[in-house]
Amino acid sequence: MEPKNRTRIPQLGKFLDRAEFIGLNRQSLTEITRKLFEEIRNDTITLSPDTDENRLVQLVLSRLDFLCQDLLVPLINATGIVLHTNLGRSPIEKSILDEMQESIGNYCNLEFDITNGKRGERYGHLTKKLSFLLGCEDAIVVNNNASAVFLILNTFASGKETIVSRGELVEIGGSFRVPDVMHASGTQLKEIGTTNKTKASDYLNAITPETAIMMKVHRSNFSIVGFTQEVPFEELIPLAQSKNIIDYYDAGSLSLYDAPYLGDEISARKLFEFAPSLVSFSGDKLLGSVQAGIIAGKKELIKKIKKNQLLRMLRVDKLTMAVLEKTLTRYIKHGPNAIKTHKLLSKSLKCMETQSDIILSHVTHKHKLSIGKTSTYAGGGSLPQHQIESLALIIDDHPKNAENMIKKLRNNGLIARIEKDHVVLDMRSIDDEELLNVASILNTVFEEHQ
Ligand SMILES: *Cc1c(COP(=O)(O)O)cnc(C)c1O
Repeated sequence: MEPKNRTRIPQLGKFLDRAEFIGLNRQSLTEITRKLFEEIRNDTITLSPDTDENRLVQLVLSRLDFLCQDLLVPLINATGIVLHTNLGRSPIEKSILDEMQESIGNYCNLEFDITNGKRGERYGHLTKKLSFLLGCEDAIVVNNNASAVFLILNTFASGKETIVSRGELVEIGGSFRVPDVMHASGTQLKEIGTTNKTKASDYLNAITPETAIMMKVHRSNFSIVGFTQEVPFEELIPLAQSKNIIDYYDAGSLSLYDAPYLGDEISARKLFEFAPSLVSFSGDKLLGSVQAGIIAGKKELIKKIKKNQLLRMLRVDKLTMAVLEKTLTRYIKHGPNAIKTHKLLSKSLKCMETQSDIILSHVTHKHKLSIGKTSTYAGGGSLPQHQIESLALIIDDHPKNAENMIKKLRNNGLIARIEKDHVVLDMRSIDDEELLNVASILNTVFEEHQ
């Protein structure tokens, strides 16, 4: 059979010397070109008969571009869920990222004490700020809250027992299962109570000489309603401490301060007034920062955690430290209103109305949109039942078209949700800077949709 390709294959070295390739990595170009030439030789690629050397250069360059495409792309979150785990959870203020460039773009004092010129403490930078904000004795930061849970249990309860209520043996998105993490840490899980009811006496009756920790886990993504009873962590603290057992709360999300959108959820400030032994929570949930696990509590316990070899594997890098430190600084100096997550969660209906109006004023086919009240959730495993009022732009379209519409928006980088068969753009999770972008995506999609 006659070969399909009649393209003349140039000599590799000469081909790679072409001006179009100057400044590019020759190693990468060699691999891409070899592969292309091989495909031509084996007829596994079909090229038009007029393919010349210039066209081959274009092919190599487009394959290089394809490889170098950013896989992590920006999206506009119009789902209304502010802490959307699939969309990167907490947004980070752009100015924080800009400042980071200055502080850690080059060398920095990550583990260096400038005063005495000796090796310094990696966590020192964060501890001072966390202790001030939380009102705790000491704190340490690890990779995420899952690591925090693991590290705490491993440090204090490996080979010993940890008491947990049956109603709190939860699974959190991305397969974080409390019983499995406990098992991996080396502690023996001692389940107490029933699914719907756990009493203080259940904790007390479960104590043995092997008991190391009384652990409470925030239910995060579900609620138990009806005939229920649980022991709040504030009550567990004195209970455990009177028996010389460590009280520990995996708080999951946790807001530093009280806020109307928190419902009856306890804030970190309030929690630490009860002098707990240990609390851990995520950096990228209600705190509104970067992925991290924050462990806070008694100094002597944190000291022991710092001695655990595993900390070396779970520690955070300077990028994380810089974002977290700058977020905490904002809290200290300006309060929660300087944090993007909180700005979004506390946004008023009036403000969202203005946002909708701005979008509408830039959309050509205005008649396709209407404004309506809706409700959403904070997300990220915080406040599972607590609805937050919100405002949305509703796309007036045949219900049959909703799936198709949401897909078109998604392909343009706008993630919406469907409510009662209509696509809605929830303003709760949309930032002012994104409004014109939203309008332009709507214009593009409505044009195609004609
Ligand atoms: C979210 C959550 C975790 C996991 O936290 P990551 O920071 O995602 O590792 C653990 N426990 C609870 C209760 C949570 O809500």
